[in-house]
Amino acid sequence: MTILDASKGYQKYFEEITKIPHGSAEEKQISDYLVQVAHDHNLKVVQDESNNVIIYKNASLGYEDHPAVVLQAHIDMVNEKNSSSNHDFSKDPLDLYIEDGFLKAHGTTLGADDGAGVAYILSVLTDPSLKHPHLIGLFTVNEEATMEGAFNLDMSLINAKRMINIDGEEEDASTTGSAGGMDIVIHHPITYIHAPAKGYALSIKGLLGGHSGGEIHKERGNSNKIIARLLHQCILKGDVQLESLKGGLKINAIPREADATFTSSLPESEVLDIINKTAIQIKKELEFTDEGLTITIEPCNINKVLDKDVSKKIIDFLYLVPTGLRHKSDHLNGLTTSSENIGIIDLQDETFEFGLSVRGALDSYVQDLADEIQTLAKVFGFSATTENWYPAWDYMEHSPMRDLMTKVYKETHDGKEIQMYAVHGGLECGIFKEKCPDMDIVAIGPNIYDVHTPDEKLDLKSFDRTYSFLCKYLENL
Ligand SMILES: [Zn+2]
Repeated sequence: MTILDASKGYQKYFEEITKIPHGSAEEKQISDYLVQVAHDHNLKVVQDESNNVIIYKNASLGYEDHPAVVLQAHIDMVNEKNSSSNHDFSKDPLDLYIEDGFLKAHGTTLGADDGAGVAYILSVLTDPSLKHPHLIGLFTVNEEATMEGAFNLDMSLINAKRMINIDGEEEDASTTGSAGGMDIVIHHPITYIHAPAKGYALSIKGLLGGHSGGEIHKERGNSNKIIARLLHQCILKGDVQLESLKGGLKINAIPREADATFTSSLPESEVLDIINKTAIQIKKELEFTDEGLTITIEPCNINKVLDKDVSKKIIDFLYLVPTGLRHKSDHLNGLTTSSENIGIIDLQDETFEFGLSVRGALDSYVQDLADEIQTLAKVFGFSATTENWYPAWDYMEHSPMRDLMTKVYKETHDGKEIQMYAVHGGLECGIFKEKCPDMDIVAIGPNIYDVHTPDEKLDLKSFDRTYSFLCKYLENL
């Protein structure tokens, strides 16, 4: 028995996909499945070394001289589940159900990001009744983690200059640009001195955090910066020696918690006074963005410490390193055009490591922010390495693909206008543009909510409407 309506190709394929494990970097099975679908329908197919799959479908009658169109989606999903779920992502099919018109999976992510796009493309490629130019179905691996599928793609397999990326999450909006970015890791060797003493445990909790691309403009508190500011205030009056300092879980998430243990040359009453006074100021500043913030300090026993100069350097660097929204655009509806996020701080036995991510709407912004941070690290004598660079998708002023999409959307949605905006997250489209600068790309998708969480849900009516819209668009291309 199926949950979805198997008479609709995209619904049938979506359900098939949810039976095949396909978390990021584990796409071999689903990649093979796509190859099988192509074989079953006598379509030419290429599976490359990364397990990207490219399927070709000839133009329908009368469209032979129309330029080809690429339909692109990523085949990996984010595997997240509730703590109470026994789901095994390596083998179990997702447990689908429908509630109030939404498709969901019990206890896990649904993978509508980007299974919806994959299902649409398979449905188009295997339906002989549709009208369209020559089509190239492009299915990429590992978008959610490294975008290596897009990076490794041999563009000579894609002989086209028009692309529809189907990885959107809002039916009434289309993406017109995305950020580039990179990660910067600051590190330095450290040595501890064993010196049992009385000290303090400082703890930051209750911040909202969020994605460092999508939510950095909300100017929420960053626990790593808050803890640096508090420790810095103590350093202005006396010595601080760190035992531990840890905050944040992911480089691309605004950190919500941070903890430090340390000793100070100041009397206890003064340390508590400085921390508590500064805490009141910070809470007032974040009153409207992070009302849940708590800052606590308690006496504790300390076993080992860093010397006071190294401790000061670490705290001062963290205090100075830029974080948060840097620039926004008046031209593009207040789009964040550059930002930084210090996502991770971690003192370990022999080294400390700070992880930052920087983003920009232009590659030059990214380079400039990275230079700035690397220069600051150099002043402190710390090492800085960059990794995971990805290019920006710069807004294209003149886009015939976008113009036609706007027109067809209006016709298929009772005269409503599709919204256009650029995003501050990274997308594979930036990589395709970098490889082929005159590629004209639009991005679409049905309504999907709570993506990357076990509450992820797909609006089934929107899933139907967006497919009709896609077919109509292809017919006009
Ligand atoms: Zn996606």
